[in-house]
Amino acid sequence: LCLWSAAVAEGAAYLKYKDPKQPISARIKDLMSRMTLEEKIGQMTQIERKLASSDIMKKYFVGSVLSGGGSVPAPMASAETWINMVNEFQKGSLSTRLGIPMIYGIDAVHGHNNVYNATIFPHNVGLGVTRDPQLLKRIGAATALEVRATGIPYTFAPCIAVCRDPRWGRCYESYSEDHRIVQAMTEIIPGLQGDAPAGTPKGVPFVAGKTKVAACAKHFVGDGGTVKGIDENNTVIDYKGLLSIHMPAYFDAVRKGVATVMVSYSSWNGKRMHANHDLVTGFLKDKLKFRGFVISDWQGIDRITDPPHSNYVYSVQAGVLAGIDMVMLPENFTEFIDDLTSLVKKNVIPMSRIDDAVKRILRVKFTMGLFENPLADLSLVNQLGSQEHRELAREAVRKSLVLLKNGIDNQPLLPLPKKSPKILVAGSHANNLGYQCGGWTIEWQGHGGNDLTVGTTILTAIKNTVDPSTQVIYNENPDANFVKSNSFSHAIVVVGETPYAEGAGDSLNLTIPEPGPSTIKNVCGSVKCVVVIISGRPVVVEPYLSSISALVAAWLPGTEGQGVADVLFGDYGFTGKLARTWFKSVDQLPMNVGDPHYDPLFPFGFGLTTKPKKGN
Ligand code: BGC
Repeated sequence: LCLWSAAVAEGAAYLKYKDPKQPISARIKDLMSRMTLEEKIGQMTQIERKLASSDIMKKYFVGSVLSGGGSVPAPMASAETWINMVNEFQKGSLSTRLGIPMIYGIDAVHGHNNVYNATIFPHNVGLGVTRDPQLLKRIGAATALEVRATGIPYTFAPCIAVCRDPRWGRCYESYSEDHRIVQAMTEIIPGLQGDAPAGTPKGVPFVAGKTKVAACAKHFVGDGGTVKGIDENNTVIDYKGLLSIHMPAYFDAVRKGVATVMVSYSSWNGKRMHANHDLVTGFLKDKLKFRGFVISDWQGIDRITDPPHSNYVYSVQAGVLAGIDMVMLPENFTEFIDDLTSLVKKNVIPMSRIDDAVKRILRVKFTMGLFENPLADLSLVNQLGSQEHRELAREAVRKSLVLLKNGIDNQPLLPLPKKSPKILVAGSHANNLGYQCGGWTIEWQGHGGNDLTVGTTILTAIKNTVDPSTQVIYNENPDANFVKSNSFSHAIVVVGETPYAEGAGDSLNLTIPEPGPSTIKNVCGSVKCVVVIISGRPVVVEPYLSSISALVAAWLPGTEGQGVADVLFGDYGFTGKLARTWFKSVDQLPMNVGDPHYDPLFPFGFGLTTKPKKGN
């Protein structure tokens, strides 16, 4: 009897799902057999961090927490502050009956951009120019380390939108108008997650553990194809077009084992993607064999109805039945839980749908070792903003620059000499780290200023690069007389767009805002000038082009402005080729490579080159 009860006691203590030696499928099966409906629906619930606490996690069995765009504990919070916050929520989850860890997600879309002192890489529009998948893989690996350094195991990246119209405010989150470049850039996924071991079946998520993060391919599908580039709007294209332009990168992402996919706010031919069963379940899950989980966008199911949230029960029903596994809930999460519970109890949503969702979520959590290592540790904090990562970002900046014009009358202006008597640096973007980084940097919309985070402005980079004998005069917006009365050898003008994110960046005119054009006029009218454009997309430049001696597209380079000076002064050559078409006037839009009436200012693939200067 004694032996028997000891065996029972031992057996009771053994929980198969907690045994890392068991295959993942067996662990999932075991755990799911123990879960109540309440616990299952909890797994499908992702709440904004402002709603979360250890008690809430415990009470509702919440499966995931997120920082929505720019929702950070304090703008300058240290890695330790982040870790403590994440661990606090996690402790709530671990103290539930089954102790299922939650997964914390954040938009690390160009480096760990919500966090002070993180390395900010160029936005995707610049990375597409590099056409360098291995570089993307290294950036993914560096980003994963920085995200993990703050205790976070999941990023809502990469955005694999194929932006077909630069009027879209999210165009800079897209690598290219050409799906082939976007496909190649999905190499960031194995960078973020690690390489899946040989033999991993197609579509099965793989995340290599403590130094890697789960990735999220977004926004499924057709987000970059909306009419006039209006954010969250309607993508009008036939099935063949959808498949050949917007879908290919999902084949690659799924093949590379992406852990999650986020659904797009946009509609396809009038039908909201969040309610599109044929594409989310029929295509992504059934045809592509995607085995990770599908997450909604922020209030994405609410927006199934117009006006949003006007029939929430219907939204929950349509979204979950379409195939969404985890729902992102910035507010009203108990309403979601209640509605989903009653829909299941009434048999409107079959239990098999809930089980499919939970199985997928648990699969990701098991594969990444969250059950074994649920709490963040402090051993990675030095990775945040490390010198090595900043060097990598600087390399990416160098490779992302596109030289659009170099010199007048066959007299190349670039590379510039490091030694010259006096140069002028001008323009609203020459000494502004916030502008250089763009949206999704500390704040959702981004903002101006050098106090934003740690980094090097282009002005500082220029000063670091020139010979000590070269006088660098900085004047943000000089008048023409100032320029004339000084005998500058040449000038560098840095102007462009000011930061924006999502729909706030939708623009029908795509002009450089003032005082940019005046600065160009005042400076380039009387001295040889290089104009460097900081922007999330091609902008109107044709009216100024003849007065400009050299023109460089620098996109949104991020914190490492030194990369710009490295190339301007010839330590490295220009190599970047446009991954987007540069239009003459907005009336031409949309205009993409391969279009019948293709008449660009600079065609897709264009980019002049320079050789590195010897002896620099
Ligand atoms: C965006 C997503 C993002 C989410 C969470 C949404 O507004 O569309 O790309 O991942 O917010 O911040």
